[in-house]
Amino acid sequence: MRKPMIAGNWKLHKTIGEALDLASALKQETAEIDDIDIVIAPVFTSLAKVAEQLVGSNIALAGQNCHPAASGAFTGEVSPALLRDAGCRYCIVGHSERRQLFGETDAFINEKVRSLLAAGLDVIFCIGETLEEREGDQMYEVLATQVREGLRDITAAQMSQVVVAYEPVWAIGTGKTASNLQAEEAHAFVRGLLRGLYSEEVAESTRILYGGSVKPDNVDGLMAQMDVDGALVGGASLKADDFLRIIRFR
Ligand code: PGA
Repeated sequence: MRKPMIAGNWKLHKTIGEALDLASALKQETAEIDDIDIVIAPVFTSLAKVAEQLVGSNIALAGQNCHPAASGAFTGEVSPALLRDAGCRYCIVGHSERRQLFGETDAFINEKVRSLLAAGLDVIFCIGETLEEREGDQMYEVLATQVREGLRDITAAQMSQVVVAYEPVWAIGTGKTASNLQAEEAHAFVRGLLRGLYSEEVAESTRILYGGSVKPDNVDGLMAQMDVDGALVGGASLKADDFLRIIRFR
């Protein structure tokens, strides 16, 4: 059985003080929950402080991005080892905003995945098609390329440290969620890709999260789908009440 994961991607929101307030509210309310992996991804500047706050909680910390280099002349970048040093257990990689706004390629994303795994972090690896690609019948090809190239040279053993997040670009921050059926179709396809690239065991044990306008009022239907193992939540992870309701999906 795959343990559900609910992850909050805070994007470019919240001061250190605001981040601590939200983390503290979540910590209090989730103290009894141990059957779901709960993850939050604040901005870099809040990570170390939030990590201190989360000691003794059931909530793990994630970076939103990293650079694959261990160190060096990379002004403005943060390495996997530094994320670990700040208290992160996970890092999000390949988010569509990084792909679209910052021109990240599958090859560069693959470098990050490899570097994170080597540094001992778990990876939340995002994929997803644009509306144009979906309407042009390219969705399956796009997802297949993103998975194959993004996970190139990642071994079956390493896949136990990888969580995949299917985030259709047209559903991110738009209020348009994929229907339960659209999500399930894409997730089942991605699981099939993992079966082909790795094995039945890897396919069955890898968690595939859905992301894109997940809200308290649509999370239950999405989570009821066989191949939806959790959610990567943007907007609705910024308020304790909303995020807690999502964590308590039924
Ligand atoms: P959203 O963002 O929930 O605000 O659509 C999801 C994401 O980008 O991870």
